[in-house]
Amino acid sequence: MKCSKCGKKVGRDGVCVSCGTQCRTPKTSLLGNFALVFAFFIPIVGLVLGIIAVCLAPGKQDKVLLADGIKAIVMSVVVTAAHILLLYVLAMLGVAVPFIIANIAG
Ligand SMILES: [Zn+2]
Repeated sequence: MKCSKCGKKVGRDGVCVSCGTQCRTPKTSLLGNFALVFAFFIPIVGLVLGIIAVCLAPGKQDKVLLADGIKAIVMSVVVTAAHILLLYVLAMLGVAVPFIIANIAG
């Protein structure tokens, strides 16, 4: 990729090595990364950060942040659903297993 200002080579970080112009936005955003990490470990925090990322993104025309925000929101919902399902299965096992054991024993 070449610099839009001087036509020289652009570094990996998207900054021109010759004149220092920001030619390309970095592929990661700090808020987006935080949102994605929290979405997996603490879904409610990831959901809030994801919504913040989506709200901030359009004004700054930051498509990476917007994409990360949407991913974080989706991931938060999926992880929360998985947690609920896991709790439901554990609760069902907790009810079913003693019942089966009691029937076999009795
Ligand atoms: Zn340049």
